[in-house]
Amino acid sequence: MDLCVNSEGAIPRRKGYAPPSGCISLVRNRQGPREPATSGGVRRSNLAPGRLLVLSAGVLALAALALLIASAFLARGTGRHVLVISVDGMGSSYYMQPVAGLKTPNIRRLMAGGSFAWAVEGVYPTLTYPSHTTIVTGRRPAEHGIYTNLSSRQPGKNPDGWFWFAKAIKVPTLWDEARAHHMTSAAVAWPVTVGAAIDWDVPEIWDPSKGQVSDPFYVMRFVNPLTVMELALAMGIPPRGSEDDANRTKAACYFLTRHQPNLILLHLEALDRAEHHFGPHSPQANSALERADAHIGEMLSAAKQAGLEISTDVVVLSDHGFLPVDQKVQPNVLLARAGLLTTDSKGKIAGGRIATVVNDGSFFIYWPQGSDVGAEVDSALKPLRDQGLVQAVFDQEALHEMGADPEARLALEAPAGVEYTADASGPLVRTLSREEGTHGFLPSRQGLESSFIAWGPDIRSGVELERIRLTEIGPTILETMGIHDPTFGDRPPLDVIFKTANPGIVTCWHGKVSGHKSL
Ligand SMILES: [Zn+2]
Repeated sequence: MDLCVNSEGAIPRRKGYAPPSGCISLVRNRQGPREPATSGGVRRSNLAPGRLLVLSAGVLALAALALLIASAFLARGTGRHVLVISVDGMGSSYYMQPVAGLKTPNIRRLMAGGSFAWAVEGVYPTLTYPSHTTIVTGRRPAEHGIYTNLSSRQPGKNPDGWFWFAKAIKVPTLWDEARAHHMTSAAVAWPVTVGAAIDWDVPEIWDPSKGQVSDPFYVMRFVNPLTVMELALAMGIPPRGSEDDANRTKAACYFLTRHQPNLILLHLEALDRAEHHFGPHSPQANSALERADAHIGEMLSAAKQAGLEISTDVVVLSDHGFLPVDQKVQPNVLLARAGLLTTDSKGKIAGGRIATVVNDGSFFIYWPQGSDVGAEVDSALKPLRDQGLVQAVFDQEALHEMGADPEARLALEAPAGVEYTADASGPLVRTLSREEGTHGFLPSRQGLESSFIAWGPDIRSGVELERIRLTEIGPTILETMGIHDPTFGDRPPLDVIFKTANPGIVTCWHGKVSGHKSL
């Protein structure tokens, strides 16, 4: 067995994986928060968006030359490649029980030649940012620190700010592991990556004052200027009205072929948007999934054309499923009426003795330690209970057991058909004229199951996993990268999906080495 052993363990050598010179300790402090690495990481740029459009041809030529030189130094990763594509909102039912006529040839191909889960149980709340952070850390929100989509816990302050910034992640991520093992990484629109230690990163972020509107110029403010320049040269400025996912895929294909990073993270969002507007499994959602499948096909073709197919494993996954809704309920209306929240002349929350965070399918309530407003909150919410607009209420202890936000005092879980919204004025309940969709509910509820499909030279075909946890995916991706770190994530990797013919997989734990177990 080919091992590189040091005093603390062993670095496994997998087919095609060249460990860095000298051994690196694989044992880390499990508990300690870790600052993202800064060397070579992405920093916020001061580049004014408009200036891109007026760069002269001479400047562009010089920039291109500089980029070629710079990228030659940056492209230090070699060996294995892992391509992770997240199709936001793709419940596993889309591939386990596809509707007749659904055209997803690439997903079908990956399932036929690889391994997949019938269902993936997510984290609470089943929202995009906590879930994507679980995927890249293997840990639940209470540990990784991205507790909800929204970041503010002060009533009326920054109500539209999301957890965009990677510095909020409290535990090591896949990109941290890549860098620690002298590998390279790229990410396109992956949540919570602004400022992350990713070599080529185009994060997901928008101007909170304008809502969730696609704005490439705003995003560019948070991209390394060299990467901005490089993408502008290679792709130009995305035309107005062009499909976001198409542009995201184009950028990911560019990073894949030009830099060949060891890890690529791509986040596609159109399916989620369609499901919110028209409901899960609606014709519009099915059509969005077919487009996502085509984008997966573009990535597979790019890998093949770059000669990387034999060294690239592919993981197609999602963050959460969806449930249909036909009612919107505004718990803040009751809390404002009880004087626990205050509102301005327009009915917006301006302050209060408590804070609330709406998670669509759930609703978290916060108040300071020592403040005794629990009874008032309970009394204020009585109309919700009386009208059957709450399925369950969880206290802090129950939330702790679920690995949810440790600061939340109370969580309301919405019943079937109900979505909670943040408004503090207007009617308590609005009935929708047609079905919509949402998520954020408990991960155990039917319909919220997310997806996991793995395929590639290291992945066995024909392995079906009945029900796995979202926390198992990060360690599995790490293993696919050829890194075996038993301290990464809450659970061990899904070793059963790896080909047994690979003699290099070993388990090491504080110096003890044993052979790889598989079915
Ligand atoms: Zn999502």
